Amino acid sequence: MRVVVVGAKGRMGRETVRAVLNDPELELVGCVDRTLNDVAVSAVLGHESNGVKFSNDLVKTLIDTNADVMVDFTTPATMKANIDKAIELGVRPVVGTTGMTPEEIANWDQACKDRGIGGLIAPNFAIGAILMMRFAQQASRYLPHVEIIEMHHDQKLDAPSGTAIKTLELIAQERQAVQQGHPNEHETIPGSRGGEFDGMRVHSVRLPGYVAHQQVIFGGLGQTLTIRHDSINRESFMPGVVMSCKQVMKYEGLVYGLENLLD
Ligand code: NAP
Repeated sequence: MRVVVVGAKGRMGRETVRAVLNDPELELVGCVDRTLNDVAVSAVLGHESNGVKFSNDLVKTLIDTNADVMVDFTTPATMKANIDKAIELGVRPVVGTTGMTPEEIANWDQACKDRGIGGLIAPNFAIGAILMMRFAQQASRYLPHVEIIEMHHDQKLDAPSGTAIKTLELIAQERQAVQQGHPNEHETIPGSRGGEFDGMRVHSVRLPGYVAHQQVIFGGLGQTLTIRHDSINRESFMPGVVMSCKQVMKYEGLVYGLENLLD
């Protein structure tokens, strides 16, 4: 499978380049980033890269390399146009960048089907995070009072995280809606109670030192339950990324969430 990585100079992109190079079934054929053109990937990333050079022209790279898959780890502002271009060219998008709407996902799903290709958007590629979401969904059936605290490095642009949104969506499908907190509660400092989704609260911490972490806290009579996942480095996402590059070759339409490829 011929893979182009977009955002290849970034934190997730670098890790993806290394993972693709290390997998015998995947071939790194292109690396795209905003500011680098005609520069050897090895010179920037410090490891061998089969002679692949950086380009700042995504369309040209996808065409010239006859790519099968485009992996995108860029920014919320950039990723949408990248997905549009890839689908238009018949290249399967595997996207880890977060910040799209359900309507956009539905449109890309249709576009993939029209083009006869697969695609994947995963707010989180770490298997432990997928399990955290699944266990949280199950627990919410019995403990419907839920709050989420997610912690990420301070360079993250969107809040709350895509994983937190996905967790809230899954819980909302399962639990019975309840009034959480006191009906007359008052925020002395605005925003203290966090964001609100279907009656649940979500809090985003942004600090240096963190990678990607989330705890889902359930409260019941005389008890709390905390389900916590920590990605302590970016390698944690790579088995999911590599698996997705292979799986998108096998179906048509856009899948949202890695869990849908696991079962
Ligand atoms: P990052 O280090 O800032 O990397 C983003 C890279 O994309 C940078 O090299 C940036 O270049 C480049 N870029 C920006 N605009 C571009 C464009 N138009 N064309 C090509 N490249 C462009 O960010 P990161 O930490 O790797 O995270 C990237 C995304 O992945 C974020 O949305 C993050 O939330 C998400 N993420 C997802 C998962 C998951 O499991 N799904 C895990 C971790 C992170 P410049 O720096 O020059 O602008």
